[in-house]
Amino acid sequence: MKKEVTQAIEAFNLGKLVAIPTETVYGLSAPINNPKLIERIFKLKERPFFDPLIVHVSSIDEAKKWCGKWPELAQKLAEKFWPGPLTLVLPKNDKVSDMITSGLQTVGIRCPNHPLSLEFIKELGIPLAAPSANKFGKTSPTHIDHVKSEFNSSDVYFLDGGESQVGIESTIIQINDDKVIFLRKGAITPSMIKPYCDQFEFTIVEADPHKILAPGQIKHHYMPKIPLVLVKDKGNAFENAKAASTLCGIDINLGRELVLSEDPSMAARILYSEMRNTCADGVEFIYFVFKQQWSESELWTAILDRLTRASSFIG
Ligand code: AMP
Ligand code: MG
Repeated sequence: MKKEVTQAIEAFNLGKLVAIPTETVYGLSAPINNPKLIERIFKLKERPFFDPLIVHVSSIDEAKKWCGKWPELAQKLAEKFWPGPLTLVLPKNDKVSDMITSGLQTVGIRCPNHPLSLEFIKELGIPLAAPSANKFGKTSPTHIDHVKSEFNSSDVYFLDGGESQVGIESTIIQINDDKVIFLRKGAITPSMIKPYCDQFEFTIVEADPHKILAPGQIKHHYMPKIPLVLVKDKGNAFENAKAASTLCGIDINLGRELVLSEDPSMAARILYSEMRNTCADGVEFIYFVFKQQWSESELWTAILDRLTRASSFIG
């Protein structure tokens, strides 16, 4: 067993949480059978108890042990996309505590694609409940240094697994009797899921934006420490900066553009670290210029979902 995995298991015995690397973002984890540590996740994150936690498993067989139902569609999707950035929301069984699911009769479950965390879960022998390792509502961490900037080593053991390769949170889908509801957009897109739904005669539906089914749908989320302004491309750099500064009422010279890649996979990967880096000393607002053609890309739509929730002003 790797030394850091042994130390991480020991950290739980000392009453600490463990920050785990995943391909999406870093998680703040506790074993799902340890109510004291689960409660500690909510306390340290300052997360409201109505916001359920995702259960992280190391295999499909392990996932089945915590679900009340395991439809054939779940099996097919897990075989195809696990380990990977897809969370399945399914009926839970009695072994999953209400604190994890916030009293819901369903559980969100996924197998993360990171060798270190998979080894950790296997060696521990019990799944981990893990929300993103940031204070509630703030920017998600994609590097261990992001986690260290928000939590102390007296509370959290830091498992360093390098930079998160996907960079945005998992896609969340709920599987009902004949419907697959998209609760959160992510790197696994509707068109990747669709062939499986057609095969099993499931209809894909988008979650009603006016009904909060998953707290990832909360209007404000992922927010940086200074205002983020979203503007439609006005054709030149000065006009874009001017539009952003007018919207938030801060001097144009105090703004800085958040620059991502044109390639959505790369843009997702660097999104949260660039959001942090752009908020440098002396900068009072950051802005992102949105290009109309991006709205046709499913992955850009998932990135824009994060940027919209993280923004204070949209114009
Ligand atoms: P985080 O890991 O902080 O990105 O949060 C996990 C997301 O998964 C939250 O937005 C939760 O609402 C969502 N989630 C977890 N369990 C469920 C569930 N049983 N039903 C709906 N959403 C869930
Ligand atoms: Mg989060």
